Amino acid sequence: MVDGQHYIGGAWQPALDGATDEVVNPATGEVVATVPSGGAADIDAAVAAAAEAFVAWGRTTPRERSEHLLALAAAVEADLPELKRLEMVNVGKPASIVDFEFDLTVDNLRFFAGAARCLDAGAAAGEYLPDHTSMLRRDPLGVVAGIAPWNYPLNMATWKLGPALAAGNTFILKPSELTPLTALRLAELAADIFPPGVFNVVCGQGETAGDRLVKHPDVAMLSLTGDVGTGKLIARNAAESLKRVHLELGGKAPVVVFDDADLDAVVATLAEAGYYNSGQDCTAPCRVVAGPGLYDDLVARLGDAAGSLLTGDPFDPATAVGPVVSSEQRDRIVGMVDRAVADGAEVVAGGRAVAGDGWFYAPTVLAGADQRSEIVQREVFGPVISVQRFADEDQALAWANDVDYGLAASVWTSDVGRAMRMARDLKFGTVWVNDHIPIVSEMPHGGFKHSGYGKDMSIHAIEHYTELKHVMIKL
Ligand code: NAD
Repeated sequence: MVDGQHYIGGAWQPALDGATDEVVNPATGEVVATVPSGGAADIDAAVAAAAEAFVAWGRTTPRERSEHLLALAAAVEADLPELKRLEMVNVGKPASIVDFEFDLTVDNLRFFAGAARCLDAGAAAGEYLPDHTSMLRRDPLGVVAGIAPWNYPLNMATWKLGPALAAGNTFILKPSELTPLTALRLAELAADIFPPGVFNVVCGQGETAGDRLVKHPDVAMLSLTGDVGTGKLIARNAAESLKRVHLELGGKAPVVVFDDADLDAVVATLAEAGYYNSGQDCTAPCRVVAGPGLYDDLVARLGDAAGSLLTGDPFDPATAVGPVVSSEQRDRIVGMVDRAVADGAEVVAGGRAVAGDGWFYAPTVLAGADQRSEIVQREVFGPVISVQRFADEDQALAWANDVDYGLAASVWTSDVGRAMRMARDLKFGTVWVNDHIPIVSEMPHGGFKHSGYGKDMSIHAIEHYTELKHVMIKL
């Protein structure tokens, strides 16, 4: 059992009022750590430390910032076995999936280390008004806060701290109250690398620690990855201080499969990506709309594939699907699948919680769901894929776009013209053709519509963490 502390201004400290939260292993239900439950006073201390550190950090050269981020990437890489172990214990991620995720974490840090040195501002310096030279600067904002969810705790932390620090901001991370362990380990690794106050971690609940970060007048920007409801609340609460808000919210990714698709590839990708991280992925391929010619085959083969996935102990190398993060999350999935069945969907695989000490749900396939039903319209965030049969391309596109979310989608076809039409017309921040789920540091990740605004990863993320300033000099 671990006792965690906040990391503020280069020092480890408990919550000022002594409050704590318990951290639980979702595969066993056991308490594995106690961490401080931060309140407004802890956040105020972190903001003061980050503001003080900004005076010097905001004036570092891109090269210096880059070297610090490269050092952090090296420290994370050297510590991967421990970071993976913590994420497996705290989130229940199976050994079979953590490698990809952590490779991306290290690559992201290295990408932002490079990006720090090649920020682009647009037009060249020059005389756009006679006898006046104009030039553009990209200045850091000041103190930036990142509020992270529980599904990819370390990845989400690095997606936010990478661009924030690369751009010359100082940073406060509030991990999810359910999964703070890798954030605290990251602070241990960063402690020898960054000056005090540049990177801070404050643990705590959303309604207390998170809320104070959102409303604090000296926090210049807030970046949330979380639920749509949380995003709307945060946007409202942040309005009073007019801070910049970056929202990466939920998804309900359609998988549009035409009759000319490679069905083997479709089934293999769905069986892996649809249940990856127990389906707790905002881009998970969870909503299949399939052509009339292959619908029956797809449903039968996906049902067989889902039924053969081993669900259980994350530390067993054969395990494909671990637990979901909490009993609340498991109960939410139970409720949504039960209502889907009441709405007319047929259970082809799974459709039930798995007994045991932790919180497991069997990989599930639901066929014949109605477009307006809750299971099609709302994010489950669990190992559940629904499949619908469309009549033609127009209906496929209409159904795919007919949700509030707009994070990610895929289209499966061997007709390049149709692939390009769909890529143009799908209202989602990422569209894959004949694949679903891969991401790379160079390309942006972010949503349309209720999936939020602002991009993680890529040069577009770092731009969002800067102020664009015009300097005009009369000659
Ligand atoms: P959540 O919204 O419950 O919590 C996210 C974070 O917000 C947590 O740290 C929480 O403490 C904090 N929070 C909650 N209420 C707050 C408030 N009033 N003020 C300030 N902070 C507050 O989300 P979750 O359940 O942790 O994560 C799952 C959600 O995240 C899903 O909807 C998922 O789709 C989304 N998600 C999106 C992406 C993306 O890139 N778009 C990636 C991963 C997860």
